[in-house]
Amino acid sequence: MKNSELHTNLFRWFQQNKRDFPWRDNLSPYRVWISEVMLQQTQTTVVVPYFQKWMKRFPTVSALAKSDIAEIIKLWEGLGYYQRARNLHAGAKQVMQEFGGIIPTTLEELEKIKGLGPYTVSAILAFAYGEKVAAVDGNVKRVLSRLFLISDDISRTSTIKEITSRADLLVKESPFPITEALIELGAMVCQKKAHCEMCPIQTHCLAYSYDKQNDLPYKPQKIKYIDLKRAVYLLEKDGKFLLKYNRHGLMKNLYEFPYIAFTKSPEPLAYLQELNTTGQLKQKLPLVKQSFTKYRVTLEPFHLICEGCDTPDNFSWVSKEKLAEHPFSSGHKKILGMLLGKTE
Ligand code: SF4
Repeated sequence: MKNSELHTNLFRWFQQNKRDFPWRDNLSPYRVWISEVMLQQTQTTVVVPYFQKWMKRFPTVSALAKSDIAEIIKLWEGLGYYQRARNLHAGAKQVMQEFGGIIPTTLEELEKIKGLGPYTVSAILAFAYGEKVAAVDGNVKRVLSRLFLISDDISRTSTIKEITSRADLLVKESPFPITEALIELGAMVCQKKAHCEMCPIQTHCLAYSYDKQNDLPYKPQKIKYIDLKRAVYLLEKDGKFLLKYNRHGLMKNLYEFPYIAFTKSPEPLAYLQELNTTGQLKQKLPLVKQSFTKYRVTLEPFHLICEGCDTPDNFSWVSKEKLAEHPFSSGHKKILGMLLGKTE
């Protein structure tokens, strides 16, 4: 990729299209800190009047540190997530006490300040101190995952690391304008639904060339699990156990012990009643938890001795020694392991 052409296109686009925000004027570490904290979880247009009022009332770290928390909270009213305001106050006091009123210039020191997360630390280093690091927010993650066709799960630390190192390389010549341009591009053009037709870096974009722009960044769908509870019966008669062979469904071609679904608490002898026979409980085995597809299953196994059981359809009696030769579903395999005294 020709980085110089990409930079030129991005930079030119940013100069022509950037929105006017007060925190972009008179850059200072304090202004970057306050604006970035305000911008977390809050829309830019909402933040503008709050930022202006804040800078008028608390123009410096020292003014903020000396202020009363009640006044700070009052000014924050409407922005939500009030812990951010409390952290700003605590952080300002810390800067006064531990750093002589100067917002530190190193990553290690900035990380010690209360409420400063990795993004805000990078933003202060890049925007206010001109360090060659990228500040990677949600917009930058979206743009770069598309630009470089990074299709791994965006929530994984390894993916974020890859995007951050790509970003560091990309912005190293001029961290502030290029990072700001990427943020702005993500906010205005490379949105959730990408507007590639207006994009200044379209010719460099791998996602665009493979028509994958709206598939990235990749976030796997969170599975909505359905919880199931089953009482599993290890029904023994003359040294043999009753097994079911599944001819259909998810457990096709696998064996399982008979089971009954329950909601509140399982009835240990319920299966004997179902078979219209009698018997007794030999032992209760530990619970087994198992997940498959969208199901989370709790299996509660009971070892029963049966006296005069018939053989239901699709079931067979298998001697204890032969049980392990049969293929079992994974939850029932764990139960078999407990029965045979093996840890699965
Ligand atoms: S071409 Fe489309 S997907 Fe690629 S960076 Fe531009 S807007 Fe985003």
